[in-house]
Amino acid sequence: MTSPAGSTPSASHQRRLGGSGLAVPPISLGLWQNFGEQTALETQRGLVLHAVDAGIVHIDLANNYGPPPGAAEASFGRILARDLAGHRDELLISTKAGYRMWPGAYGEGGSRKHLLSSLDQSLDRLGLDHVDIFYSHRYDPTTPLEETIGALATAVSSGRARYVGVSSYSARRTREALAAADTAGVRLSVHQPSYSLLNRWIEEPDASGESVLDVAGDAGLGVLAFSPLAQGMLTTKYLDGIPGDSRAARGGSLPPSYLSLRNRAAIAALAEIASDRGQSLAQMAVSWCLRDSRVSGVLVGARTTDQLDENLAALEHLDFSAAELAAIDENSVD
Ligand code: NDP
Repeated sequence: MTSPAGSTPSASHQRRLGGSGLAVPPISLGLWQNFGEQTALETQRGLVLHAVDAGIVHIDLANNYGPPPGAAEASFGRILARDLAGHRDELLISTKAGYRMWPGAYGEGGSRKHLLSSLDQSLDRLGLDHVDIFYSHRYDPTTPLEETIGALATAVSSGRARYVGVSSYSARRTREALAAADTAGVRLSVHQPSYSLLNRWIEEPDASGESVLDVAGDAGLGVLAFSPLAQGMLTTKYLDGIPGDSRAARGGSLPPSYLSLRNRAAIAALAEIASDRGQSLAQMAVSWCLRDSRVSGVLVGARTTDQLDENLAALEHLDFSAAELAAIDENSVD
């Protein structure tokens, strides 16, 4: 592989993570799926090295990615040791804790006990002494938020994480997390929410009167949006059924019920708008998420290098006319 610091399309489009000093690529690779024990390590290695060669220097993980939970971190740790050891400081590696990871009271949630023990386990699997971003993977209503954010502060002060953030927190909880971070003396740098043409919740105000994007823009909190292709629905592959090699065919996180008539109609209409722009639907889905300067980047998944290359080419056409945005608004559903 070449050095990831080369002048690749992705590297030349780098953005700031909110008000922090951290540069992030507009498109990052997530290892939620396709990096478990069902996928050969050589296939995983090919995808990761292809991504890094293309300037995707940010790899997003969580303790529980697999299956089984932990497998994606373990695989990525092996790839890092074998192929990328000399490039550690050119890479941005994130992980998270919060969902069920091991049995018993301490195996999930937002407690200090879970977050810091899980982070130590992640570092062991990755073979690293620190990650670049550590997230609270979800808000835990049974733990005082001050405790969760205090654990993130410890992750930074102990050197186990360079930056910290939250994932899938509502606007109201994000405001509270920012206040708790101030008190704890740590900067909350990033929010990781779901966001796509089929899932626009971060634009909508919640009961607090603000949206996640409002809070992020106001507080200088970076936003890294996950599932910008709605797990692959924002491609044309489901318009005529469910291909055997697709995520929906494998069962799990993308049940066929998501491919409702309403969603398929929206997908078909959006595909036409994309085609008029000279993009595939997958490319337009990525470009559209990046149109808002409050969105620092998107986290895509990929099963093949061809998928990754197609998605990366979205960066060649990021601008939208007012007429295109209006047509998209008419056809995107939430
Ligand atoms: P996407 O919406 O990008 O979906 C990725 C999937 O879509 C691929 O695995 C592939 O599935 C299909 N696909 C991708 N590109 C193409 C293409 N060009 N043409 C056809 N199909 C394509 O993202 P994910 O849902 O995978 O999530 C991305 C990352 O976000 C995760 O890996 C994780 O890092 C993060 N995430 C975070 C969460 C959180 O709670 N914080 C939750 C979920 C994700 P296939 O070909 O198999 O159908």
